[in-house]
Amino acid sequence: MVNLDLSSAEVRERRLRSVISYNGTAKDLAEKSKTRSLSINERSFGQCSDCSLGCAQSQTYPLRGAAVVEHSPIGCSQPAMYKLAVNVSNEARGLEAQRLNVLSTNLTEKDTVYGGIEKLNETVREAKRRFNPTAIFVQSSCAAGIIGDDIESAADSLQKELGIPVVPVFCEGFKSRIWSTGFDAAYHGILRKIVKEPRKKQADLVNVINFQGTDTFTPLLAPLGLRVNYAMPLAGIEQLERLSEAACTAHICQTLATYPAKALEQYYGVPEVKAPPPFGIKWTDEWLREVARLTDKTNLVEDYISREHKRIEEPLAAVREKLKGKKLYIFAGDAYAHSIANMLIDFGIDLVGLTTLHHDQITDGGHEITDSLGYLVKSHGNVENFSVCNKQPYQVYKILQKLKPDIMIVRHENMAVLGAKLGITTILDGDVNISAGYDGLLRLGGRLYQATRAQKLLQNVARHFITPYSDWWFAQDNPFYFEGGVV
Ligand code: SF4
Repeated sequence: MVNLDLSSAEVRERRLRSVISYNGTAKDLAEKSKTRSLSINERSFGQCSDCSLGCAQSQTYPLRGAAVVEHSPIGCSQPAMYKLAVNVSNEARGLEAQRLNVLSTNLTEKDTVYGGIEKLNETVREAKRRFNPTAIFVQSSCAAGIIGDDIESAADSLQKELGIPVVPVFCEGFKSRIWSTGFDAAYHGILRKIVKEPRKKQADLVNVINFQGTDTFTPLLAPLGLRVNYAMPLAGIEQLERLSEAACTAHICQTLATYPAKALEQYYGVPEVKAPPPFGIKWTDEWLREVARLTDKTNLVEDYISREHKRIEEPLAAVREKLKGKKLYIFAGDAYAHSIANMLIDFGIDLVGLTTLHHDQITDGGHEITDSLGYLVKSHGNVENFSVCNKQPYQVYKILQKLKPDIMIVRHENMAVLGAKLGITTILDGDVNISAGYDGLLRLGGRLYQATRAQKLLQNVARHFITPYSDWWFAQDNPFYFEGGVV
């Protein structure tokens, strides 16, 4: 159960029994997850990490018309990094470019002794004066959490004073080893303070919980006479208020979306689309059928699906031919990695391995059909080389060295260079929406083929790459050596 009476979302380690390290097979992991038999392991060392605050930022910074106040030392804020990516996404979605309205309370050593609430009050007032936003999000950080500032009370009284929602988001980096907890924290804040009781239900409106990305869901749902209400991150506050009015809530990634989808079902009776996300032919069929069932469009859906199958048959066969014999490896977030794997199987490509950044042993709601790993194994069988690794390059090099893929697909920019340095053609799948639906499958196929044409260039790059790792490390068989092998 989601509990919106609590100020913060329960961390994933406890709620979803998530893990950050595993080395084995997809089938084995899916089996072990059924009994929640894996425990989260401490790494003996880590080269890098993201944090929950970063995931919350990815959702709240791009909210149109809103402002964000980071209650943190200045180093925790990163609006400059997001600005370009957000506006590239705005352009892809046909929205106007936007400014990111972000301020930091700039907590210092002195504030960690005497408290930072006064600074927080002043900064929120300054955000209202400077940006005149529709809502202000106050995001907590490690420092704010450790000193125990009462952000909840401060936000309540600032909301009364300023007359706009002031939304606390509890996403302290130290609180969870699973950085996706920050997605839950941002949605928890939205669900508590922004989403309103429905004025009237809209029978043709489908919530789509997504990351930034192209508007590919409008053309996908238009033939069924349905409209899309995109939730965070590129939405305005008024779109989020209406999440309670939709006919159903669909997700493009269970890692991101099962928490808000479950809450909307529980609190407002908006049913969650309990189907795999629309990536790959079979999953798109199933997703469309379930959306159609929940929106009373069942009479239209089968015709639509068979027309689409026919339309893509020829181009898909051409893509298959071009990609014949390629070996592919995926390194991406938990559920989305499973969706990409499902698409590759449509191409007939050899999936030599898959690594996810963490793994949730259960999804919010606990439905079998939203268990993306279990569903992948059920739909397509085992993936022999399956691992979970929260971005540690020393392990990724070893995995790549063993699997020797022709192409690697990654979800995060900083991972793309790893493949390139080893001469492996690497695709950054940043705009997740673009691969959704039947056309999305063709688009991904086209991108994979184009990428293979850069192979020679990358092989030249690899010749000049000087590895920072020792011969001893490269001689070890097991990339998970420091965690005792299979964990
Ligand atoms: S919240 Fe904590 S982990 Fe995240 S950037 Fe700030 S100090 Fe680092």
